[in-house]
Amino acid sequence: MTQIFGVLGYPISHSRSPAMHGAALRELGIDALYVPLAVPPERLPQLVQALRELGMPGVNVTLPLKTAIMPLVDTLTPAARAVAAVNTVINDNGTLIGDNTDAEGLARSLDAAGVPLAGANVVVLGAGGAARATAYGLAMRGAARIAIAARKPAEAERLARELAPSCGNTALRGLALDASDGFKLELSRASLLVQSTSATLEASLAQHSGAQAFAASLPLESLPAHAAVVDLVYKPLETAVMARARQRGLKTVDGLGMLLHQGALAFERWTGRPAPLDVMRAALLK
Ligand code: NDP
Repeated sequence: MTQIFGVLGYPISHSRSPAMHGAALRELGIDALYVPLAVPPERLPQLVQALRELGMPGVNVTLPLKTAIMPLVDTLTPAARAVAAVNTVINDNGTLIGDNTDAEGLARSLDAAGVPLAGANVVVLGAGGAARATAYGLAMRGAARIAIAARKPAEAERLARELAPSCGNTALRGLALDASDGFKLELSRASLLVQSTSATLEASLAQHSGAQAFAASLPLESLPAHAAVVDLVYKPLETAVMARARQRGLKTVDGLGMLLHQGALAFERWTGRPAPLDVMRAALLK
């Protein structure tokens, strides 16, 4: 019988997951479909019920449903609990497991780019959902220190405080993302800068100039020459922050790798088979 996978979101038409997972299922000859499902938040409980009744093997979950789905599944993985968001549901013989593959997805994309994580000194820009997944994922890989910098420093401090109990020996702190000496000092110690604000997204001309201004305002000159810079935003593939880092001669990593690896992890959890990464990446780039 043809199995049905899908991605839940609202809206959902922009999602690249159907292309990526559809290509992977075809490549491995699995008799299955992967469909985008537009689910208004108030309809989510019915959708989860349908998922159970139809015996769907798994779904991805995207905005604005990643938190709302948490109480509707039967159990949460430690990653989903720490990140406080579910991006993957696995139907294990009728038990719905809520998981989060964003954190490990980012770590794997940095592995693939040859960026060392054990003992890393990390600066994370932003204090939203992506910053939370980043800090947890890198702490799980043994980062020594993680400084979360946000334009609202109280948000950064709150995130550091909330995550600390699930982050083992990694030292976390929150601070202001500004032109202060404190921020520059953190950058000067960093081996990795993770841009996880939405400031570098560019869907319009107005956002383009905003992204340029944001990149220009960052004191990237404070980073050591060996530091790597990753931007989680993948539209455009090379963001204004990455362009500035590249001009400085720093190693840069794009956000498509995180999207690819979070999808690959979900695929492996659903099917028990290694994900065909090259085919999935090509589908994302199309
Ligand atoms: P949130 O809305 O949860 O958080 C956005 C963060 O960016 C907030 O801390 C916000 O600060 C900050 N921010 C926005 N604009 C600026 C600015 N001009 N200057 C400083 N800070 C700013 O979004 P997410 O955390 O979920 O996502 C952030 C980005 O990461 C998205 O654009 C998304 O594309 C990307 N992403 C990529 C993924 C991947 O797989 N590659 C996965 C998930 C996200 P404030 O609260 O002050 O507004």
